[in-house]
Amino acid sequence: MSKVCKICKKPAVENFAPFCTKRCADVDLGRWLKGNYAIPGRDGEATIPANDIDPDADPKFE
Ligand SMILES: [Zn+2]
Repeated sequence: MSKVCKICKKPAVENFAPFCTKRCADVDLGRWLKGNYAIPGRDGEATIPANDIDPDADPKFE
């Protein structure tokens, strides 16, 4: 196993890969959602934008 957690760089756990815990998975998910949608608390699947938005390419959300 050579994977490490994307959030805290600890060894990733298989159940949560590529993260070490659900907490880190949630952190990443939160970041991703924030970077892409910026619509907290709203759940509209129809509003999901195209896949060409890369959260890592937009530093203003960091
Ligand atoms: Zn972690």
